[in-house]
Amino acid sequence: MAVPIALTIAGSDSGGGAGIQADIKAMSALGVYAASVITALTAQNTRKVQSIFPVSPDFIQDQIHTVFEDLNIRAVKIGMLGDSTVIEAVAEALRHYPVIPVVLDPVMVAKSGDKLLQPEAIDSLRDKLLPLATVLTPNLPEAAVLAGQKEPRNLVEMKELLEKLKQKNGPAILLKGGHLGGASSDDLFFDGQETICLASPRIETKNSHGTGCTLSAAIAAGLARNLSLYEAVTTAKEYLTKALSGADCLSVGKGHGPVHH
Ligand code: PLP
Repeated sequence: MAVPIALTIAGSDSGGGAGIQADIKAMSALGVYAASVITALTAQNTRKVQSIFPVSPDFIQDQIHTVFEDLNIRAVKIGMLGDSTVIEAVAEALRHYPVIPVVLDPVMVAKSGDKLLQPEAIDSLRDKLLPLATVLTPNLPEAAVLAGQKEPRNLVEMKELLEKLKQKNGPAILLKGGHLGGASSDDLFFDGQETICLASPRIETKNSHGTGCTLSAAIAAGLARNLSLYEAVTTAKEYLTKALSGADCLSVGKGHGPVHH
């Protein structure tokens, strides 16, 4: 069978640990060819996002249409978008390709604490992009912002937050519980009908930069390979666990280094 193709629409991380660079590494490792539409350039290392150079919404649309015109894209992952003009441009462009599954990682803040999405863009994300998503992959701070509430502190509150995020005919949701702490990292996966808890061991490492990007890119890779959403999510979690387990062998920068693909 030919190697399937997935597309990542995300920001570039000059340090190579997150964003487009993490996505391409994860998709390649999972046997999928990665096309990339860049939404913003970040001057970034393992300690900080120094500055962000935006890409114009028109040029982002041009990239999307040019890729789709020629490449047989089987799944899309969306990461950092920056502001509402980019969100609207991406949503408008993707409406032309409605049957392609979309993994939406609602990137808001980098591990360094730097903002990757303007706070006033949250409404656009919720109203324009969420309806196009097949699966949404928020961490707890992002999910709390989307639901307009405080961050949950335990599994019970996390389940309540998931209930608030569910929408009629809305996307499936992988609510990532890593921020709760504890010995195991429990995610809640709502497939559109049922909710199940996906537990994985917490891996202690300082090298956790790009974990969210890697997970969402790996899910898109699974969907491009025609896995069911459940299989794509569980395979992606296994991939991320391995990437975190091997991360300490990397010595990249002095801050939060990247996971090992
Ligand atoms: N930089 C870019 C360009 C990203 O797309 C992302 C994605 O989440 C990040 C940084 C954040 O990565 P992390 O939260 O793992 O630092």
